[in-house]
Amino acid sequence: MSGMNFQFPVTHNPNSQLDGIDWNNLPFGKIFTDHMFVMEYADGAWQQGQIVPFGPISMHPATSAIHYGQSIFEGMKAYRNLQNEVVLFRPELNAQRFSESAARMCMPTIAEDLFLEAVHQLVALDAAWVTNKPGYSLYIRPFMFATDEFVGIKPSDTYKFVIINSPVGAYYAEPVRVKIEEFYTRAAVGGVGRAKAAGNYGASLYPAKLAQQQGFHQLVWTDAKTHTFIEESGTMNIMFVINDTLITPSEDSDTILRGTTKRTVLELAASWGVPIEERAVTVTEIIEALKSGTLQDAFGAGTAATIAHISTIGFRNELFELPAIESRTLSLRIKTELDNIKSGATSDTHQWVRKIC
Ligand SMILES: *Cc1c(COP(=O)(O)O)cnc(C)c1O
Repeated sequence: MSGMNFQFPVTHNPNSQLDGIDWNNLPFGKIFTDHMFVMEYADGAWQQGQIVPFGPISMHPATSAIHYGQSIFEGMKAYRNLQNEVVLFRPELNAQRFSESAARMCMPTIAEDLFLEAVHQLVALDAAWVTNKPGYSLYIRPFMFATDEFVGIKPSDTYKFVIINSPVGAYYAEPVRVKIEEFYTRAAVGGVGRAKAAGNYGASLYPAKLAQQQGFHQLVWTDAKTHTFIEESGTMNIMFVINDTLITPSEDSDTILRGTTKRTVLELAASWGVPIEERAVTVTEIIEALKSGTLQDAFGAGTAATIAHISTIGFRNELFELPAIESRTLSLRIKTELDNIKSGATSDTHQWVRKIC
């Protein structure tokens, strides 16, 4: 943190919902902690941020974000470790990505130390919501949207930045069945695929629904122009292991979201001496590796599941079964190591963990 000091005024919630939580039946993303952080942008500057009781935000019907989609978000987690401390994992990468998303969507950026301090103070206040139950965490959702009350296409002059937190249970990482998509597109060169912009997710729902009707959990997105290069899997980055080499699509084209989890997996594997290739990955080479039996692993990497193993890949009219999960030694080792770093069971030699309290 820089020399700046942000102390946000707090209005305490007199009606804590914490005692009523059924920790054994926690629906994902539907329960929220007692407080939220709110900060408005007006007159060309961010105004004083505040922590207030969690609750609805009222909106003018012409609020520009609803009409024209200037809306971005982040997704990160807080964990309670074995030392009973609440920690964040590489939050500066989220702060940085949020600024990049904002710039791409013609929205005002937020100083990274201000973003981080807002997350810290909010999570610290609701720290009792971060349980030490194994696998549980606090999902943190920072977001920003345009608030001009104006029907007309131009960058909004006013914005709202909000952070809400949701306790989430152990993510049941059932291996996923994916389909390689050769028609619909998530992101095109020159588009907004690199930004965590709300519209990207709205646009992905229909093709994902079609795949679900065919028995898949999600899509593997390919490049918009030729559909011959693999990009991402659902809302996760995609990684493969072929001949003991960890392979993942490079981010050069800006059509791929720059995931913290993927970056971390690559850095961890590199520190173990695993050969790594970050490069264009063709659909053809993956299908050939499946056919010849050299594809040892394929998985999605993202904050929600950390590692989501792929069990089946559908391509055109064929289904390819991947090796048994137990045989996927590299990704299993990575998952265990990341869990151990977050829980404090292993020392954090990479200095990825940030203590909150
Ligand atoms: C958020 C996201 C990811 C994963 O990013 P993490 O920082 O690892 O959580 C990957 N792809 C898309 C499209 C995403 O929205």
